[in-house]
Amino acid sequence: MAPSSRAVGDLTSPEVTQRLRDTSILCLPMGAIEQHGRHLPLNTDVIVAEELTRRIIARWGEELDLWQLPTVSIGLSREHDWAPGTLSLTIQSFVALLRDMARDIVRALPARNLAIVNGHGGNRGVLENLLHELSGDFGLNTCVIHPFDLSKAESPVTSGDVHGGKSETSVMLVLAPQLVRREMITPARSPPDAEAIAALIFDRGVSFPWRTDDPRLTATGAIGAAHAASPELGQAIVDSVVAETRGVLRRLLENQRALHRPRG
Ligand SMILES: [Zn+2]
Repeated sequence: MAPSSRAVGDLTSPEVTQRLRDTSILCLPMGAIEQHGRHLPLNTDVIVAEELTRRIIARWGEELDLWQLPTVSIGLSREHDWAPGTLSLTIQSFVALLRDMARDIVRALPARNLAIVNGHGGNRGVLENLLHELSGDFGLNTCVIHPFDLSKAESPVTSGDVHGGKSETSVMLVLAPQLVRREMITPARSPPDAEAIAALIFDRGVSFPWRTDDPRLTATGAIGAAHAASPELGQAIVDSVVAETRGVLRRLLENQRALHRPRG
């Protein structure tokens, strides 16, 4: 028997049917490979999604029967496609990938709950709509967790903290401090134009295809006050996300009981 691991990939094929039930929750870390300014690595969103998922499962895995799926590491990053290193899927292939995964999850695993832990804001809009198809077409009971918005530690929306800024840098100082290039964090340059950030990104009355090579938004590719980052804030965000996720996943199970009527 696999001992304490709750990664689906660590199980043997017979163990899948012994250990998972229709009420088990599959946790899918979803990231992106994209520029994060001069101080954070391309795989920042992968690390955030994967490490938070690992910690959520370490904390609530037994109570809520959580299982970690292999990470989807490339997402929708066209707003960063000017930068070396950024890898992006088209919306079409992103949706096709997730629909194929949903179909195969239903074929290969007893679990019918899927919680996507989304490390990249650019994946959000499509994921929100896609949930309806994953539910309607495949019978999966789903949710997407957006860690930086779920965290009660501070509000990124009011602080103009968009990308590679204060909260993301703080979290990386906790999850992968060896990958943060602290000497490359420059206080003066961000944000170049707070009004442009408010108008192009945060105006809820209109959507624009904003990009991180727009000099009004950023001089470095990062948007937000990375110089104000700290491991203390990072730890507070990580702890808050892990704590808040329990309530989210209990709501997910409630939805399954109310809407999906699990077998026997
Ligand atoms: Zn990021």
